[in-house]
Amino acid sequence: MPQFDTQSVHAGYEPDATGAVMPPIYTSTTFIQSAPGQPGPYEYARSGNPTRQAFERALAELEGGSTGLAFASGLAATATVLELLDAGSHIVAFEDLYGGVWRQFERVRNRSAGLRVSYVPTGDLAALRAAVRPDTKLVWVELPTNPLLEVVDLEAVVQIAHAAGALVVADATFATPYLLKPLDFGVDIVVHSVTKYLNGHSDVIGGAAVVKDAALGQRLAYLQNAIGAVMDPFSSFLALRGLRTLHLRMARHSESALRIADWLQGRAEVSQVIYPGLPSHPQHILACRLFAKGHGGVLSVRLAADAAGVNRFLSRLKLFALAESLGGVESLISQPASMSHGSLTPELRAERGLGPELLRLSVGVEDAGDLIEDLAYALDGLGR
Ligand SMILES: *Cc1c(COP(=O)(O)O)cnc(C)c1O
Repeated sequence: MPQFDTQSVHAGYEPDATGAVMPPIYTSTTFIQSAPGQPGPYEYARSGNPTRQAFERALAELEGGSTGLAFASGLAATATVLELLDAGSHIVAFEDLYGGVWRQFERVRNRSAGLRVSYVPTGDLAALRAAVRPDTKLVWVELPTNPLLEVVDLEAVVQIAHAAGALVVADATFATPYLLKPLDFGVDIVVHSVTKYLNGHSDVIGGAAVVKDAALGQRLAYLQNAIGAVMDPFSSFLALRGLRTLHLRMARHSESALRIADWLQGRAEVSQVIYPGLPSHPQHILACRLFAKGHGGVLSVRLAADAAGVNRFLSRLKLFALAESLGGVESLISQPASMSHGSLTPELRAERGLGPELLRLSVGVEDAGDLIEDLAYALDGLGR
């Protein structure tokens, strides 16, 4: 079995008859059949497209799964996974959750499918055990969580969920298979926002789901086609091209994020640095066990400043761009309260510690010294 770095470069595609070492972008929407009812490997591009399949196979291989499916966005992947459930099903989710997933649960599927979601404090296994009921069909976990970067004991979560007959979905957008392969821990479905690290260049909106169990893979593939929120061929090509350097990017993201997190800890203007790679992180030991090769490129900080101070800090940054999203080669900074988690109610944001002083940094692959200089200049302006 080749190493991950080799798989990243080669997985999912064998040169075709032309010898092209990179997969072509097949734009054809349909494929000739030799006789009625006798299609070839492809019929219609919603149900199967060779370029999309190259990306899907590559991702499945990197995750150690049997089936990979690519979608038009991370939320399209989430929506399709939720269609596995019957109307009225119960879900248990950990509280710290991407705002868009929360919105889909509470503002869409609650109404359209009667899904009921119970939220438990992130990582609280006793609360999880107490929350699962006979009608619980799914346990939803993010790893690490967005934006508080909490880490949960995946094996224990899987054990509790499976004992109750529920599937486990892990949104591993922040980890990527370079850091963590949830299927190896017994997770049933891994979902990704391909928009982030997998594509890695902030130029594709995409999503994916990967499973190990072939029967579950067939059910999801059926839904992918039936619902139709598929990734287009051009995005699939770009996503596969991004995947080819995932190992290089994640190694650099992780190395620079750790260095920056460590440096930020020494600054008086910063009241808290949240990064699983720091010994000060409450689940640092667990994080080291789960993530063998680093702790990713996202860190969050709380500034010791009021809203005006936070705005002054943000306006002085030159390299860190104030923008939604994460996982690209360029560094970004965001304020979850007004951006990714703006869809939560103000009460929920307050309860979960998502105030204006909380900022989330996506550390890019620029020179880490330059990034630190950028942050230092902005912090120097805080008191003025
Ligand atoms: C961005 C994100 C999503 C949603 O993905 P889109 O591609 O934006 O639809 C889901 N989960 C996490 C953790 C994310 O960061």
